[in-house]
Amino acid sequence: MVSGPEFLVADLGGTNLRVGRMAADGDGRPEGVRRTATEGLGRHPGGPPAELRRRVLRQLETELAAALAEPAAEGVRAVGLSFAGPVTAAGVALAAPTVWGGCAEPVPLSARLGACLGLPVLAVNDITAAAWRYATPDNDAFGLFTVSSGIGGKIFRRGEVLIDDEGFGGELGHWRVDHSATAPLCDCGGRGHLGAISSGRGVLRAVRQAARDHRREFAGSALAVLTGGRVQAITNEAVAAAARAGDPFTDRLLHAALRPLAIAVAGVFAAIGVRRYLFIGGFAVAVGERFVEILGDELIALGCFGLSPAEIRAMLALGAADDDHSLIGVGRMLAAVVPGPRSAKERAYANADRR
Ligand SMILES: [Zn+2]
Repeated sequence: MVSGPEFLVADLGGTNLRVGRMAADGDGRPEGVRRTATEGLGRHPGGPPAELRRRVLRQLETELAAALAEPAAEGVRAVGLSFAGPVTAAGVALAAPTVWGGCAEPVPLSARLGACLGLPVLAVNDITAAAWRYATPDNDAFGLFTVSSGIGGKIFRRGEVLIDDEGFGGELGHWRVDHSATAPLCDCGGRGHLGAISSGRGVLRAVRQAARDHRREFAGSALAVLTGGRVQAITNEAVAAAARAGDPFTDRLLHAALRPLAIAVAGVFAAIGVRRYLFIGGFAVAVGERFVEILGDELIALGCFGLSPAEIRAMLALGAADDDHSLIGVGRMLAAVVPGPRSAKERAYANADRR
C-alpha cells in the first residue's frame, strides 16, 4: 500500500488561493489545506492586469513551493491546479477576468509551474475540476452548473469535459439570453448574459428592482419581514431564506430569474440528451432544494422532448454543500492520469489473474 499524500492540489479563485494534499485514491478529502487571499483583483481592485498577473503567479510559485517543502508533503508526485478561467488542454490559461482582470496575455501555467517546482503540473479550469468530483462509472454523463455571483457550466461525459482543446466552450454563463438594450451587464463586460440574470447577483438585482416597483406587494411579503421593509437591506441570504420559507413574492421572482437557466438546460438536453444536472455554488446551495424545485417547474413548463414531468424533475439535483469541489476534483483527475506505484501493482495483479 502507498501511504502519505501523493498529490498537491490547489484552487486559485478570485478571492482565495487554497493549497492542500491528497492521497492517490482520490476518494478522501484534501488535507492540511492552507488558504491565502489571492493577490489579484480581490485585494487590489482596479490594478493593471499585467501587474496583478505577475503578483498572482509569484504567489502561486511561492505557496506551492512552500507546501512541497513541508515534511508532510514527502512523497508528492504531481501537482494539480484548478484555475478560475478558461484553460487549454496543454495547461495554458487564456484569461482570468475574476483573478487578474481582462486582456492580459495567455499564461502557460502547467509548463511554467512545472519548471519551477520540478514536478508534473496539471492545470485545469475550476468547473472542469469540480466536475471530476462527481464523475463515477455509473454517472456517465452530466452537466455541472455553479450558481454564485456568476454562472459556470460544464458537460462531462465518459471521462472528459466536453470543451474544445483550445479552451473554448463550457461558458453557458456568458451565453446572451436577454437581447434588450437595458439588459444587465455581466462581469465579462457583455450584456444580458445568463450569468448576469440567473446568478445570485442577477436574482438580487431583480428582487431589489421588483421591491422598488411593487412596494405594496413587497410590503406584504416574508422578504419584507426579514429585511425590515428596506430595499437596501435585501441580500442574497434574505432572498434565500424567503425562498426556503415559500414567500410568494420571492418565489415568483425566482421563477422568472431561473427561467433562462432552465432554457440553457433544455438546450443542452435537446442537443445531446444529457439527463443529469448538478447545481453547486453559494446561491444554489443557500436556496437549497427549493432551487431545483423552481428550476424544475420552469423546465417542465418548457418541456424536454420525450420526457415526462417526473423524469424532467428527476434530472436536477444539488451537489455537495461544501466548497471543496475543485480541490477534490483536481485530485481525482491526477489519480486518473498520473500512473502510480499502486496502479502499476494493480495492473500486475490483473495481468496475473488473466494468466
Ligand atoms: Zn458574460
